[in-house]
Amino acid sequence: MLPFSRVAIIGMGLIGSSLARAVRQAMPTVRLTVSDGDAAVRARVLALDLADDVTDNAGAAVVDADLVILAVPVGAMGAVAAEIAGELAPGAIVSDVGSVKERVLTDLVAGLPGVIVIPAHPVAGTEKSGPDAGFANLFTDRWCILTPPPGVDDWQVARLGDFWRALGAKVETMEAAHHDRVLAVTSHLPHLIAYSIVGTASDLETVTRSEVIKYSAGGFRDFTRIAASDPVMWRDVFLNNRDAVLETLGRFTEDLVALQRAIRWGEGDTLEALFTRTRAIRRGIIDEGQDTEEPDFGRKH
Ligand code: NAP
Repeated sequence: MLPFSRVAIIGMGLIGSSLARAVRQAMPTVRLTVSDGDAAVRARVLALDLADDVTDNAGAAVVDADLVILAVPVGAMGAVAAEIAGELAPGAIVSDVGSVKERVLTDLVAGLPGVIVIPAHPVAGTEKSGPDAGFANLFTDRWCILTPPPGVDDWQVARLGDFWRALGAKVETMEAAHHDRVLAVTSHLPHLIAYSIVGTASDLETVTRSEVIKYSAGGFRDFTRIAASDPVMWRDVFLNNRDAVLETLGRFTEDLVALQRAIRWGEGDTLEALFTRTRAIRRGIIDEGQDTEEPDFGRKH
């Protein structure tokens, strides 16, 4: 039996539309209602046949849903909670897909008193935005992390886990604050570094911008992919996971200075030891199935 029969998704960007496609594919009998504030997005959702009902009103979308998933930027979760608070069906679970969890948990619990709130984060995505960028198997073999607050019934958490597993994801449960520390290292810091490197390269006086673009295959272009990620989404990630990001950034800055010193003093052993260790981490990621062995970052030539 399916864990939910009527699902509402608020926000039809990359993640919302991928979810809609995945639900359509894995659970064709689920009644799917979606909302988005942008008329052009709603038109694309209809043209792509991603849902049974499409509306511009988040409150109207959730009225009879037994699962509601907010797929909007982290900073917009509280406002959307206020829009749906008076419209939810009794017993409905409200979840989300936001990349930061502690702040979202606080905002949803405060905005939805008496409602079952179970935040979630599918650790899957691309640098693209909008409904045309989504795809049904985005979540296949990727982790989805659930961060329920204390007091939520275990069976409700298990039910949401079953939903994500039916979409192909692997499911883990952890405390929201811990999620934010882990993701600060694995996602937020790498994005910050990419934004910073691409910004620096475009500001250099000694190398022309056309040279940077022409010779980008030396490593730079892989940072540009990450640095092309949605500006609003990532602004909200850094504003809402400030403490964990600043702590990780502090450690990173120290380690970078140590590398600077090793280069200055010709300490080849230090450099080689680090690069050997990092190569093993890459091996571990491939062994875990979180990336492929294909050369050149999986590009098809
Ligand atoms: P996206 O493609 O840019 O879509 C954003 C969606 O949020 C759009 O439907 C947009 O509506 C809506 N939205 C934006 N501002 C809003 C506001 N103030 N109030 C209500 N709705 C608003 O972004 P996305 O990549 O799907 O990201 C959605 C969520 O997924 C974010 O919380 C993000 O942290 C999380 N996430 C992203 C990734 C990733 O790699 N991209 C991975 C995992 C989780 P309009 O159509 O009206 O603009």
